[in-house]
Amino acid sequence: MFNLILFGPPGSGKGTQAEKITKKYNLHHISTGDLFRFELKNESELGKAVKRYMDKGELVPDHITIKMLNKKIQSFKDPEGFLLDGFPRNEAQAESLDKLFQSLGTKVDLLLALDVDEEEIVSRILNRAKTSGRADDMDEDIIRSRYQIYKEFTQNVFGYYKKQNKAKTVNGIGEIDVVFNRLCCTIDEHKS
Ligand code: AMP
Repeated sequence: MFNLILFGPPGSGKGTQAEKITKKYNLHHISTGDLFRFELKNESELGKAVKRYMDKGELVPDHITIKMLNKKIQSFKDPEGFLLDGFPRNEAQAESLDKLFQSLGTKVDLLLALDVDEEEIVSRILNRAKTSGRADDMDEDIIRSRYQIYKEFTQNVFGYYKKQNKAKTVNGIGEIDVVFNRLCCTIDEHKS
């Protein structure tokens, strides 16, 4: 199994790159943001419980997020590997992921962080808002607050995996295929 975390601030291109990477390396793409948006759309109990956090760009409480993620991962029979996008977002989530993978006889192999600066993030997300329909994409204050949450809580996850020698940074600025090639080179280097 090969398990990859695609990391980076909101709007850094994780979703777009995740689709391309999962195809190339035959991984299951799990995006906690997409899973939550699916629940929101269906107006499920879970969707109703997370709406107020998502609309404001705040993190959904760990016990809800971790339960949903664990259930999703455990639903696959004999997976070749996972690409996680949007999870883990703090150290508690990273520790719980390590435990889950350990119980399944596997581990996180690599975390790739897309490096994109704040101003580029704000302009990309405002542009994405024209088509995404996401409440959290429409308001510049919310976008900046999501970026601050990333800096304050989520970036620690990079250090957590760096200590295990598993975290690498990739320049996230450039054409989609250029960034994709950088990511693939780093994955292939790690695998060889
Ligand atoms: P994303 O699509 O990854 O930007 O996530 C959109 C929103 O979903 C976030 O702003 C959070 O409200 C929620 N969310 C997604 N993943 C997580 C996570 N791992 N922990 C807590 N909240 C999350």
